Amino acid sequence: MRTGNNGLFVPGPTNLPPTLRFAMDLPLEDQRAPDFPDFTLRLFDDLKRVFRLDRGEVFVFPGSGTGGWEAAVTNTLSPGDTVLASVIGQFSHLWVDLCRRHGLNVDAIDVDWGEGVPVERYAERLLEDRSHTIKAVLVCHNETATGVTSDVAAVRRALDAADHPALLMVDAVSSLASIDFRMSEWGVDLAVSGSQKGFMLPTGLAIVAASEKALDACRSATCPRCFFDFADMIAANRDGYFPYTPATTLLRGLRASIDLLFSEGLEAVFARHNRLAEGVRQAVAAWGLELCAREPKWYSDTVSAIRVPESVNGNDVVNVAYARYNLSLGVGLGRVAGRVFRIGHLGWLNELMLLQALAGSEMAMRDLGMPVAAGSGVAAAEEHYRMTAGPVALPSSAAVGM
Ligand SMILES: *Cc1c(COP(=O)(O)O)cnc(C)c1O
Repeated sequence: MRTGNNGLFVPGPTNLPPTLRFAMDLPLEDQRAPDFPDFTLRLFDDLKRVFRLDRGEVFVFPGSGTGGWEAAVTNTLSPGDTVLASVIGQFSHLWVDLCRRHGLNVDAIDVDWGEGVPVERYAERLLEDRSHTIKAVLVCHNETATGVTSDVAAVRRALDAADHPALLMVDAVSSLASIDFRMSEWGVDLAVSGSQKGFMLPTGLAIVAASEKALDACRSATCPRCFFDFADMIAANRDGYFPYTPATTLLRGLRASIDLLFSEGLEAVFARHNRLAEGVRQAVAAWGLELCAREPKWYSDTVSAIRVPESVNGNDVVNVAYARYNLSLGVGLGRVAGRVFRIGHLGWLNELMLLQALAGSEMAMRDLGMPVAAGSGVAAAEEHYRMTAGPVALPSSAAVGM
């Protein structure tokens, strides 16, 4: 039995705020109750505001982000359709794999892990595709395996420059509600998220948003679908109900999550993530280490993947931190397994929680003989947080003078 808090710094699931836990501590309810739509219809509207979706639909399926990928793909595409994608890390790799298993023909551009979505190569492919065989373009907004955020708006510009009608599909699982995301402004047709990252809830919901263009595409799309069928959802959601039993407890949690996000303000939420992330980046520099992300323009505000020297296995850092210090960090996945360890910094977090993750990381690294100076990363982050904390507010100047 361990005492004290578990340090949860994996990039999903994230820390569960007590207010959300309490909001879900309630009796189960009747999902066909006459007043249920009062709750759900407002929830759908507010969810659209989180996606910044003006016109279109949001869908809340029981599931996880992976189910969201499947919903986006099967509702709008047909077997044999060509999809333009890129493999920039493990999650974009898995999405490509899912597309292939659904019989899609995926043109997956392979890039060095640590780089973002290759916008220029997307632009070339789209310009060459005069007959418009490409039906969808896939973008992993925030690649959680490498800590890389890509420029979704630039992909929209590439589509527009080529006057290309392909759907723009975005994996926003580890960016929505943590990093700026503007579905309508960026012309995103399908955006996928889940409950256990920026929404700070347990796993269990696949949250998907679709533009009107995406909804039009459903009519001719022939991929088999049932559980994730948008049409069934729309028919029931219109009146505030669901085609099968919804995860009502998680929906109540989602309500509380959105309330929490709106009370802080989405802009403030994004700024907080940026500030906390920057402290982690300063710590990494002070350790003399490098991020997996190759350029600052790709630095993720929700997760940092930190490269370890050849002589060290990144998984050992994670294992030692867990075993000795009760701290959960993220392991390296896929092609960067063992080459990195990850600190998730999204969700319900503050400065001192991050210092816990940084302290535990540097203790584990020192335990493994890495030449990291004790306290170096913590000190760097402390200074960043101190300098960016805003004006010093004292309870009363008289009390200090005494
Ligand atoms: C977590 C994650 C997923 C997968 O979501 P699950 O909820 O685990 O199915 C997909 N994409 C990204 C970018 C993620 O971070």
